[in-house]
Amino acid sequence: MPRPEELSSQRVEGRRCVWCGYGKPVVNLGRRVNVVDAALYVWNPQACLECVREQAAKTYGAHTATCAYCEPTLHCVEARALHALGHPTPAARVDASRGWRDDGRISLGGEERPSR
Ligand SMILES: [Zn+2]
Ligand SMILES: [Zn+2]
Repeated sequence: MPRPEELSSQRVEGRRCVWCGYGKPVVNLGRRVNVVDAALYVWNPQACLECVREQAAKTYGAHTATCAYCEPTLHCVEARALHALGHPTPAARVDASRGWRDDGRISLGGEERPSR
């Protein structure tokens, strides 16, 4: 995730994709809190689908290496959603939709682990 003080206001305010700066923002990445110049900075980045896929593909590799729930032959729900997003195929798109949460956000990087 880029730091807000390095971004244009359009990207900070979620009017453009936070990663590429030109994509149509379709995924709400959730409220973030950063410390900028010793002050708390609350912002709400959004991302385009292409960047979400790219980030998901990167996160997937790191996730499966560290996740306590993932096994070599059986990946947890989060890993499957990341994989489906990062490697879109007609079949995987169905899986990807299951990774989307009811509030329209998607969990990236395991910050919010699903409870079991
Ligand atoms: Zn983008
Ligand atoms: Zn996992």
